[in-house]
Amino acid sequence: MPDPAAPALSALSAHLAVPHATALPGPTLHPGARDRGPTLMRADWHGSTPLSIGRFMANSTSHWPGRTVAVVYVQGCPWRCAYCFDPSMQSDDPAAAWRWEDVVASVSARRGELDGVVFTGGEPTRQPALGRAMALMRELGIAVGLHTGGAYPARLERVLPLVNWVSLDIKASPGSYGRITGLAMAGEAAFQSLRHVQAARVPFEVTVTVDPTVHSRDEILDLADHLDARGVSRVVLQEAEATLANPDYAARLAGRGIGAVLEPADLGRFAVR
Ligand code: SF4
Repeated sequence: MPDPAAPALSALSAHLAVPHATALPGPTLHPGARDRGPTLMRADWHGSTPLSIGRFMANSTSHWPGRTVAVVYVQGCPWRCAYCFDPSMQSDDPAAAWRWEDVVASVSARRGELDGVVFTGGEPTRQPALGRAMALMRELGIAVGLHTGGAYPARLERVLPLVNWVSLDIKASPGSYGRITGLAMAGEAAFQSLRHVQAARVPFEVTVTVDPTVHSRDEILDLADHLDARGVSRVVLQEAEATLANPDYAARLAGRGIGAVLEPADLGRFAVR
């Protein structure tokens, strides 16, 4: 179904162009671009670096509840979570990158079958090209979903006008983020991102991955109280996933899940996915 917000988005995409001076640490030019020659460079419709994409899933029913979507896995993340579901997405890897133009071609060809496109990662907001990529999807009449941990609140705020739905991954109460992500200031960023999502009035959910190797029952219940006090009454719990994780982590997890952290009576206040 055509997106009613689309007509205003060409102008908005220009607004979203991020000056190189604000680029985050990491390559400002897609390292694989020269190797691939002019074909890849044509993917840079709006005049700057294309998205660095680690994986593309043409069809998913599990990334946006109730919708059939294509999923774009954006490379790179500033955090190093103990339970990272896929550490291969933490860094830019030109050798593993998908071409943005191939993603656009796939989505365009299947517009009638898709209910949207979800940008996930890694941390999608790390890349300055995210806004342009979202704007293009909206111009194509495709609804945009975003999975983010909220590592870059200012960038998130900037792209929120292009987003139809957000899944915000909250990892712990603010004081525990350093222990989980390796960056002490990460909690401040994540909760600032929550405030931006709430202020934007975009539909959203908050997910919490429950990891028996880092979370205690008290921590999860305290986090639920913390979120409730900030207006988030419904939290979606997710199992830690070791399929693509580091072998050391998989060994420590040892197949344990939410049931190793929470008691059955605790689950009534959560959704579990
Ligand atoms: S925020 Fe996500 S992608 Fe980044 S390290 Fe944590 S789990 Fe991995």
